[in-house]
Amino acid sequence: MSQTMKALVLRGGRAAIERRPVPAACPGEVVIRTTAASLCSADAACVSGKFPTPDGTVLGHEAVGVVHEVGALVSGFSVGQRVTVASTTPCGQCTDCQRGFSGHCGGTAWGGYTFGVSRDGSLAEYFAVPFARHNLVPIPDGVTDAAALCVPDTLSSGSTGPEAARFPLGGTVVVFGQGHIGLAATMTARALGAGLVVTVKARPGGEALAKTVGAHYALNLAKHDIEAEIRQLTAGAGADCAVEASGVVESFPRAVAVTRLGGVIAVLSSYSGPDDASLAIPLAQWGWGIGDKTILSTFQRSGSERLGRLLRLIENGRIDPTPLLTQRYAFDDVERALDHITAREPGHIKPLITF
Ligand SMILES: [Zn+2]
Ligand SMILES: [Zn+2]
Repeated sequence: MSQTMKALVLRGGRAAIERRPVPAACPGEVVIRTTAASLCSADAACVSGKFPTPDGTVLGHEAVGVVHEVGALVSGFSVGQRVTVASTTPCGQCTDCQRGFSGHCGGTAWGGYTFGVSRDGSLAEYFAVPFARHNLVPIPDGVTDAAALCVPDTLSSGSTGPEAARFPLGGTVVVFGQGHIGLAATMTARALGAGLVVTVKARPGGEALAKTVGAHYALNLAKHDIEAEIRQLTAGAGADCAVEASGVVESFPRAVAVTRLGGVIAVLSSYSGPDDASLAIPLAQWGWGIGDKTILSTFQRSGSERLGRLLRLIENGRIDPTPLLTQRYAFDDVERALDHITAREPGHIKPLITF
């Protein structure tokens, strides 16, 4: 009989720990023994049905661990090695992957996002990584499991907007939204050379954390006139870059408005709404169509080469994502961790779940 493991499984609209067989490595896969995991609102979306996810799927897309079994066609990894993998696990071979848009692997938006959605995920004692040669990366000795755990989704998603925006050295970056993705965007905007970073969220709270990870000013809609504040902080010019990581439809025109002529709006959010819904572009603040403002629609950039670069930033002390790990749970308590994230409990940014 095959060895069994504990896994967090979607069943009948809720998530619960079940016993499942330990996965065996297919030829292109590596099976990982999980040492730490996390979860986010995307897991809650799988449970609620916002991301259509079949019953019986093991949830989760953020984990670190050690190599347990290496598939016959995978080279470069050995049993016992510490590794992690991005939350998107593209094939690396299809047209979209080769064009550099591996998040949309296979020609559909989000197509590379399969862990815990269309295949078993990583909230389990063991999980299998597809296309392992492309997606799996070793964790340097100097990087703790906790810090590495922020790479698979938080840092690889949150850094994509600032990296794609290519704002000028010393430029001003405004980050809308201060969940784990917005906080990672804040951190990486600083690492990429922003001279002034301003964060914006809906309500007061979390200012200390935003400043710990790199914000110079932490504003909120309840207390501040955001456009006036940004104008004042930039001598009337506006920001070189606005990163929209709030996922709130009303934030998008605000991001356009605070961006200077010639600046970049980098959207990191997926907005929800009916198929005929639209985002508003405020015409005057858009420069009536000739403002040279660029809107980038981005999704996580993944793959082992990029993950290796993010891990290098941690290894060499350029960024420290561990302040985002605000709660700790044992895996047996993972259902409570998911409940807290689903309820958007104040102060709950990222859970560190240990095995
Ligand atoms: Zn996530
Ligand atoms: Zn692909």
